[in-house]
Amino acid sequence: KLSLSIRNVSKTYGNGVQALKNVTLTIPNGMYGLLGPNGAGKSTLMRTLATLQEPDEGSIYLGDLNVLNQKEEVRQTLGYLPQEFGIYPKASAEELLDYFAVLKGITNRASRKEVTDHLLRQTNLWDKRRQKLGGFSGGMKQRFGVAVALLGNPKLLIVDEPTAGLDPAERVRFLNLLSEVGENSVVILSTHIVEDVSELCTNMAIINRGEILLQAKTNHAVAEL
Ligand code: ADP
Ligand code: ADP
Repeated sequence: KLSLSIRNVSKTYGNGVQALKNVTLTIPNGMYGLLGPNGAGKSTLMRTLATLQEPDEGSIYLGDLNVLNQKEEVRQTLGYLPQEFGIYPKASAEELLDYFAVLKGITNRASRKEVTDHLLRQTNLWDKRRQKLGGFSGGMKQRFGVAVALLGNPKLLIVDEPTAGLDPAERVRFLNLLSEVGENSVVILSTHIVEDVSELCTNMAIINRGEILLQAKTNHAVAEL
């Protein structure tokens, strides 16, 4: 099974903030929680894993792929839902997902329809597919973000603080969606909410001030035994 290996990754920003200090983590298949308060370095690590930012030091492997050197290959197998997910409010869910599918290289119209229809159902947005994204609730937008991130069947899905701002019902629906996805890929969820991790993830790490304080299996993992 695929796993992600992060070794001695450090990053200091131009303003002197040391956002990551010698981060070493092994992230197995399934749901992984990265838990930490605001400013801990979560987004910096997520962007680095998503090949959007370079660390100063360290190495990262996804299976055999060198994430820092083989960016194009990694991007083809990666889905990323950033903390601030921008959408075009005037497009419908169906239109925008189709557009992103074209960008992902799914050029055949029929296969694109098959893929996007499946994702709209999987994310529970089928009934809303003709509605404009501008009218979507926070939870609907996040589920749409997952649909976009899942285009191309990524083996690694990175979601950065996805439940912040969701109401309780939307949050549960969103977490259930992620746990479905986690059954056959590596899913990394960054969050400052302990329950996101304890309810969903089998493995976790705690990060604070750029340092990993703890890596552990969760009670959730114990319950699965
Ligand atoms: P780097 O060292 O990676 O080049 P910089 O310090 O030059 O990073 O900043 C990159 C961008 O991030 C700049 O546009 C800056 O305005 C923005 N930025 C600076 N400080 C912060 C901060 N504390 N949090 C988030 N963004 C910041
Ligand atoms: P988190 O996602 O856990 O809130 P971040 O990775 O966003 O943490 O930030 C870690 C630290 O790095 C914070 O002190 C933040 O202000 C700083 N930081 C983040 N981005 C930048 C940037 N582009 N330039 C300078 N400092 C940054």
